[in-house]
Amino acid sequence: MRKLLEGIRQFQTDVFRHKQPLFERLHKGQEPVAMFITCSDSRVVPNLLAQADPGDLFVLRNAGNLVPPYPTHTSGEAATIEYAVRVLRVPDIIVCGHSQCGAVNALLDRSSTESLPAVRRWLSHAERTLEIMESSYGDLTDPAERLSKAIEVNVLVQMLNVYSQPSVVAAVQRRELAVHAWVYHFEIGQVRAFNPDTETFEPLCFEEEPAST
Ligand SMILES: [Zn+2]
Repeated sequence: MRKLLEGIRQFQTDVFRHKQPLFERLHKGQEPVAMFITCSDSRVVPNLLAQADPGDLFVLRNAGNLVPPYPTHTSGEAATIEYAVRVLRVPDIIVCGHSQCGAVNALLDRSSTESLPAVRRWLSHAERTLEIMESSYGDLTDPAERLSKAIEVNVLVQMLNVYSQPSVVAAVQRRELAVHAWVYHFEIGQVRAFNPDTETFEPLCFEEEPAST
């Protein structure tokens, strides 16, 4: 707690002073450049990764960057996506998984959630990830490779769940919204984006417009 309080003190005395005009502008409202759906993991820091300012990213976080499919569940995730698309009109939604994801690891090792009933129920939203791993990647025996592949598969499964939201379908049809699947490898500072043309995750290409990655 001491570290947290010290950080807030430093923010108020140093950072806020330098960014005060920005915060005053944001008082009038927000116009984020993207919605960023990612894991709660403390090693993932979206604003640091994208060097984004307050007001730039509309962030949704939970264990495993999961999006319950519509309309099966009334969820905070569905409400947050609907608000981002219909009210804030974000042009891009990024579903960003990350290396060494504990939630995906727990999905692969069910015994690890025996005493975590809420976690186990929550991970049911990634059941398709597990099915795909078993049907298509059953030959992956190395635990690190298996986890790495499951993290990628999960991001794609959750991206499809984003597409299941009616607000998203409508905005995509109007060509006002694009949805992206990324994996952030925090230990090497690299972001890999899914390329539908090659059906592989490739290092983020800075030459292209984000909407076409
Ligand atoms: Zn995670």
